Amino acid sequence: MNLLKFLRPGRSAAKQKNLPPLMLRNTLSGELEEFKPMGSAVKMYNCGPTVYDFVHIGNLRAYVFADTIRRSLHAWGYKVQQVINITDFGHLVSDADEGEDKMTKGLKREGLRVTMANMRKLAERYAESFFKDIGELGLDVEHIRFPRASDYIPEQIAVIKTLEQKGYAYRLEDGVYYDTSRFPGYGKLGDQDIEAQEAGARLEVNTNKRHPADFVLWKSDKKLGWESPWGLGFPGWHTECVAMIFKLLGKQIDIHTGGIDHIAIHHNNELAQAEAATGKPFVRYWMHGEFITIEDKKVSKSLRNTIYLHNLTDKGLSARALRYWFLNGHYRTPMNFTWDAVEGANTAYGRLVRAYLELPPSQMRPDETFLKDFYAAIADDLNTPQALARVWELLRDPAIIPAVKRASLAEADKILGLGLGDSGPVARVSVISVDDLPEDVQRLIAAREEARTNKDFKKSDDLRAQIAKKGFEVKDAPGGQKVTKK
Ligand code: AMP
Ligand code: ZN
Repeated sequence: MNLLKFLRPGRSAAKQKNLPPLMLRNTLSGELEEFKPMGSAVKMYNCGPTVYDFVHIGNLRAYVFADTIRRSLHAWGYKVQQVINITDFGHLVSDADEGEDKMTKGLKREGLRVTMANMRKLAERYAESFFKDIGELGLDVEHIRFPRASDYIPEQIAVIKTLEQKGYAYRLEDGVYYDTSRFPGYGKLGDQDIEAQEAGARLEVNTNKRHPADFVLWKSDKKLGWESPWGLGFPGWHTECVAMIFKLLGKQIDIHTGGIDHIAIHHNNELAQAEAATGKPFVRYWMHGEFITIEDKKVSKSLRNTIYLHNLTDKGLSARALRYWFLNGHYRTPMNFTWDAVEGANTAYGRLVRAYLELPPSQMRPDETFLKDFYAAIADDLNTPQALARVWELLRDPAIIPAVKRASLAEADKILGLGLGDSGPVARVSVISVDDLPEDVQRLIAAREEARTNKDFKKSDDLRAQIAKKGFEVKDAPGGQKVTKK
């Protein structure tokens, strides 16, 4: 028989949108700045996870934050080239080159021998679970590149060689180090107090580094690793991002993100390497997301308070409800996870999805005043809590007709990513969008939608007959008009 078709929200109005300047807070200047990309496609890099274990909900907040940036850029009409790296070797437990190697820790935990092959196997397993988690949270995994650090060893060696040639590196017995004193303005990101670091470091374990802030570029190893001009070993963790950015996005990029923990060391170290290597500014907009605490405590495995996405879904909570909860906090505000808070978010999210699905599908245009306020909230450094407040106001507004509400929500959801259109029965059975119907049939369907909304059943029946003459049968279902080819 025929193909079943359900109506989907109307065509994007992005082209005609009269958007305010998109203001983003740049950690480099400490100011709100208007976003202007270098070229036609925005180049964005988000520091990715070390895949030695499942990512926890704190990590997931960092990627929903990155996704909010991506979706907002799309709404503002930009194409986006997005890269999230996968750290699949090395990375000491502390960013400051101390402690145990995370991947080795993961191997030991799982009773696996510490070999390069096992490291890769472990990494791929947890990378898969990371992709699944972020996919469930609404990230467009198909359109993001996820380079594995271990696939870019020659590129990392090349960066270190350049730094060595330019006089920014020195060798010690256990590897090659970056000489931070050679880079003027080291620590400029987030205005780090390097002198204080130096004072604090006197109390630490003795090292032969020239300055406590100096960091490892190549870590020598007697048994494992890759061959390099400095012998067997591993590139330092801070080098992989620089090498992959250079290779995949270019020497200068628009946006670089991470959690606030990355500002002091990791991102200052990336910046120092990249700018020393090229002599050019590396990143135009550095953006950092605040942390999640759990029941008021730091997320920590030793406290056994780590929460993973599957802990929520096992309890019947929806992944998008977690996204809803994230969006209810501004990305620069710390959030405290409690089960009560997330269950509350799940209830509110369920209510929102139901409200959306009860609205009649439509080809109507979104409400302009709503969209103006909604985009103004997003333009204000991605103020998602305010944007969500506008959504609830829209739903409560008696002056806006249901079909317009639905079109408005569909448009807003392009940024919110709550999956309104695909979270319920409508999308589950939807095979082809209404946009695929002939234009004249689309117009008749839209007119009939309006007639139904206005309870003008005679007109609605007339329009059904006209649609039938064009070869399509239309039925009214709970999710909206259902169109089949006769
Ligand atoms: P990592 O695998 O530790 O490098 O973390 C991956 C990403 O998650 C980084 O952007 C971190 O800054 C971020 N992150 C780690 N812990 C938290 C947390 N508790 N809350 C929010 N973001 C976090
Ligand atoms: Zn990084």
